[in-house]
Amino acid sequence: MRFSRSLIPTLKETPAEAEVASHRLLLRAGFIRKLTAGIYTYLPLGLAAIRKVETIVREEMNRAGAQEILMPMVQPADLWRETGRYEKYGPELLRFVDRHERESCLGPTHEEVITDLLRREVRSYRDLPQNLYQIQTKFRDEIRPRFGLMRGREFIMKDAYSFDVDDVAAGESYQQMFEAYKRIFTRCGLEFRSVLADSGTIGGSYSHEFMVLADTGEDTLVICSACEYAANSEKAEVAIPATDDSPMLDLQKVETPGKRKVPVVCEFMGIEPHELVKTMVFDADGEPVAVLVRGDRTVQEVKLKNLLGAADIEMLDDKAVFDATGVPTGYLGPVGIKIKLLVDREVAAMRNFVTGGNEKNYHIKSVNMGRDFEAAAVADLRQITDSDPCPACGAQLGMKEGIEVGHVFKLGTGYSTAMKAVFQDSNGKETPMVMGCYGIGVSRIVAAAIEQNHDENGMIFPMALAPMQVVLLNLGLKDEQITETAELLYTELQGKGVEILLDDRDERPGSKFKDADLLGIPLRITVGKSLTKNGVVEIRHRKDGTTEELVPEQVTARIVELIDAAMSNG
Ligand code: ATP
Ligand code: MG
Repeated sequence: MRFSRSLIPTLKETPAEAEVASHRLLLRAGFIRKLTAGIYTYLPLGLAAIRKVETIVREEMNRAGAQEILMPMVQPADLWRETGRYEKYGPELLRFVDRHERESCLGPTHEEVITDLLRREVRSYRDLPQNLYQIQTKFRDEIRPRFGLMRGREFIMKDAYSFDVDDVAAGESYQQMFEAYKRIFTRCGLEFRSVLADSGTIGGSYSHEFMVLADTGEDTLVICSACEYAANSEKAEVAIPATDDSPMLDLQKVETPGKRKVPVVCEFMGIEPHELVKTMVFDADGEPVAVLVRGDRTVQEVKLKNLLGAADIEMLDDKAVFDATGVPTGYLGPVGIKIKLLVDREVAAMRNFVTGGNEKNYHIKSVNMGRDFEAAAVADLRQITDSDPCPACGAQLGMKEGIEVGHVFKLGTGYSTAMKAVFQDSNGKETPMVMGCYGIGVSRIVAAAIEQNHDENGMIFPMALAPMQVVLLNLGLKDEQITETAELLYTELQGKGVEILLDDRDERPGSKFKDADLLGIPLRITVGKSLTKNGVVEIRHRKDGTTEELVPEQVTARIVELIDAAMSNG
């Protein structure tokens, strides 16, 4: 690939809209360009990096016995109605009507389509197991598309689906995919962890996420310091607190003029945030729901969503809270509240706490559940913290940020029962197939790899994901010896199957060096003055900046050796 004839529009300036390193660098290096919110064009080098991920994924999926197919993006609404997900999936599902007034949607995931296929094709236990996958563009109308390829509305996913005769066989399929995922992320050169996860709208009983550890990750992981426990904090269950059985004191109304925020109320009343209980209001599929948590806690919205079985949860703004309750935010409380009330387990175990007075400028002291208000439900609804004990062993927890790059689910028979995907078992009995599903964020992996591997000068690709293995700088376009040597090396290396970018642009050496660093290509060959002076060219490793000088005749063999070594190290 010749730089002079390629579309690699590098930028000197840092784009203002990019908040994280991978987004900034993907734009600066000319890997992607935005079309509209969360929707990008992959330019040649961006696509080359994506193809590298796809190849690794494909090889490992095939090795694990999965078969590649390609399903449609446009899916009929009626299929989604069979599982109830047309209603339940929420606004991330882009719905539309075609010219024949048929309701359709753009595939955010493919459980319905694959189950429809298998219910038609599988008759007997002899036709099972099946494990089918595809690598395809997905569409999800994300509420907050951001961070470039990390959270797009259109993105590339690998999704696989397994169908088995029973739970034991389905467990084996799950385990095979789990192992394949470990190989995939290891080969991608990523530092990752698998954690227990929430099953979300996909449904199902059991799941693990594969997380790339990075400070910019949108997920918070809790990792036990003593045992094997590791979970997404959305999922991590907070240990049941001990009940306070001190005597209930009399309710006391306190005037708190203009005091609305937790710290302000606490200071005014001379209490600590853990003695106060907040009333948070959410919209759950159009219905307002109040949730009580301790003053120093946050509501974990995924737990709330699961408890309610809601498609969509959003915190209400001040005006909407007032419209729903007749009380301004800051003064809302459970005593006499008019909307559905859910209570976090921790609050249910508390005595004599402070809440809003359900009246502007008032709070109430010594509130007690059971005596002063009733809950529609008590459940674990708050975000776990690192001062909570490990849910498995009670030891100290640590927290880390992570980027979810893969997700494996045991689905069970939910989809197959709803869609009547049955087979005749060995006794001739009609039985629903037992399913699993397995996703990988192919385009997100590129972003995650950059988050983990970059410096102030640019990206630093692991060899396995690098869009090009070598960049060759010709620093003397007008010098015959330099240009001849550069061209010769370019041809020779290409002949050995090396992926090489020849920087043959009429640019100053300084900007060629800068761009080579920015692009993150693992090996750089420089052909310049050292050749005319000393007869040598330089090989430089992007990762650690080390260099070696060689006569041109030795370069090709050395490069091939370096690439082989890097690939075999994963
Ligand atoms: P998230 O919690 O990040 O929204 P998810 O649970 O919705 O992810 P899955 O439905 O499990 O994701 O999708 C499988 C994989 O697809 C994820 O592990 C992730 O790597 C990738 N993915 C999901 N949503 C996006 C997105 N908006 N942009 C890029 N990749 C995504
Ligand atoms: Mg999502």
